[in-house]
Amino acid sequence: MNRLDPRAPLVLDTRELGRRPGSQRQVTRTVPAPPDLGIEVLKVPEGSPVEIDLRLEAVMEGVLVTGTARAVLEGECARCLEPIEEDSEVTFQELFVYDDPAHQGDPDEDDEVSKLEDDLLDLEPLLRDAVVLALPFQPLCEDDCPGLCTECGARLAEDPDHSHEEPVDPRWAGLAALKQDDPSSTSQD
Ligand SMILES: [Zn+2]
Ligand SMILES: [Zn+2]
Repeated sequence: MNRLDPRAPLVLDTRELGRRPGSQRQVTRTVPAPPDLGIEVLKVPEGSPVEIDLRLEAVMEGVLVTGTARAVLEGECARCLEPIEEDSEVTFQELFVYDDPAHQGDPDEDDEVSKLEDDLLDLEPLLRDAVVLALPFQPLCEDDCPGLCTECGARLAEDPDHSHEEPVDPRWAGLAALKQDDPSSTSQD
């Protein structure tokens, strides 16, 4: 079992919170982004600041963590490949159950349950899931980015009136003329 490092920036010590249901604590800290916070084309660069605001609340089964995280995503536009930099704010909530025999649930569910280790909890998986879930399916520099010219690769946003003298390669025009076969006139006995 991996022991959590209490000095790691995304590990929180809940000792001061205590275990009395209803007790609460606010935690605000800025931490360096862990590696791979996001996906290849859009992520929070490792080591860049992530501002975290949390509310820790003791409940019967454990500690309920509710929070927001703010960071700057960097990546590139899926259409025109220009660099993108955008602010991201995500929210998350997770129950970390007390890791003691009195609170053991179904052992089959163990992997899906976040647990406190002693009095420590690890925010990193929570933060990672929240950031990845909030990522756009396709990062774009602008919602209506026109992308690149298929003929010459120019960025169309910078040159919208762009055109080419001969948009169709003559060889393709020839192929188009050949596509005259009727597909229904095959199988005959
Ligand atoms: Zn773009
Ligand atoms: Zn072009």
